[in-house]
Amino acid sequence: MRRKIVVGNWKMNLLEKEAEELISKIKQSQISLALTDIVICPPFLFIPKAKEILSDTVIKIGAQNCFWENEGAFTGEIAPAQLKELCEYVIIGHSERRRYQKETDEEINKKVLAAAGKGLKVILCVGESLEDYRKGNYEVVIDQLIANLKGLLPDMADKIIIAYEPIWAIGSGEAATPEYANKVATRIRQEMGGILGKETASNLRILYGGSVNRDNASQFVAVAEIDGLLIGGASIKPLEFIEIIKNVNKVKT
Ligand code: PEP
Repeated sequence: MRRKIVVGNWKMNLLEKEAEELISKIKQSQISLALTDIVICPPFLFIPKAKEILSDTVIKIGAQNCFWENEGAFTGEIAPAQLKELCEYVIIGHSERRRYQKETDEEINKKVLAAAGKGLKVILCVGESLEDYRKGNYEVVIDQLIANLKGLLPDMADKIIIAYEPIWAIGSGEAATPEYANKVATRIRQEMGGILGKETASNLRILYGGSVNRDNASQFVAVAEIDGLLIGGASIKPLEFIEIIKNVNKVKT
């Protein structure tokens, strides 16, 4: 059985004090942590503080990006080996990085292999544009998957989580329908069966991300192929994030 997981991507938001307050509010909330894995991904700068505050909880910490080399003259980058000292997860290939930093599939592939190779759990984001969505073309998601996971070794499989995030749904207030997300997730799992073998792919966790809120969260987790959520905007609103987790906890899988 696949364990549910809710990941909060804070993006480039909050100042230090606000970040501390948000982490503390999540920690102090009465949410059950027994049923769902919770991961928060603050900006790099706040990761040490998050680790300190959450050290006596099972809430996990992730980063929003990393580089593909583990040391050297790469000004401004953060290495997987450095992250591994502080956190367990890393988001790679978010559509905002593909768009604004012009990250290519090849670079994302190098990051995935480097991060998983260092033992980080990789949340690999894939998703189609509005144009492709309108054409019914979600095979572009599969093309990304194949390119981004090229050369993945079988023993890295348990380090991979796929986040299906239609680009048009991110931050737009217009989420995909759970049925549509399930259809794409089914196709992703089928393709992953070819890459990793059917049994390994059946254990892979696939998340949905894009305008998730407290009202729609449980509907996504209730469909067969979706095991959790990647949440942007709603993850920095403490009450909203806590309600989402409560609603996900209620879903029987
Ligand atoms: C995201 O940034 O991964 C995301 C899903 O954002 P939002 O929840 O704001 O749509």
